[in-house]
Amino acid sequence: MNDLKSKIELLKKEVSSIEYDKNKEVFDGILSLIDILSEEVRALSDRQESLEENLEYIDEDIIGLQDELFEEVSIEDLMEMEEEYVEIKCNNCQKPLFIEGDTINNSSIIPCPFCNKNAIEK
Ligand SMILES: [Zn+2]
Repeated sequence: MNDLKSKIELLKKEVSSIEYDKNKEVFDGILSLIDILSEEVRALSDRQESLEENLEYIDEDIIGLQDELFEEVSIEDLMEMEEEYVEIKCNNCQKPLFIEGDTINNSSIIPCPFCNKNAIEK
């Protein structure tokens, strides 16, 4: 960008040294056009830069989310999860039920989904 700026400045100097004639007017016109265009390009590249910066942040966020979502689950974790559920038989209809161990320990009534009666009624 700075390179472009200095080239434009150089051109301006050269044009200003031209003796007044029709050519000078044309050159001036072209130069002011180039000036406008170079400003546009600069503004665009500024926006591009900030877009790229934002993309980088989004990228980092996504990587963080991925890490959270796909945190490795070990075999031990899976076993532990499985252990939390206990297979019991409904006291009424004898169908197998999978109940959380805590629930069995803490409740006196577990409704059986098959017969709707209390599965742990003694
Ligand atoms: Zn039952």
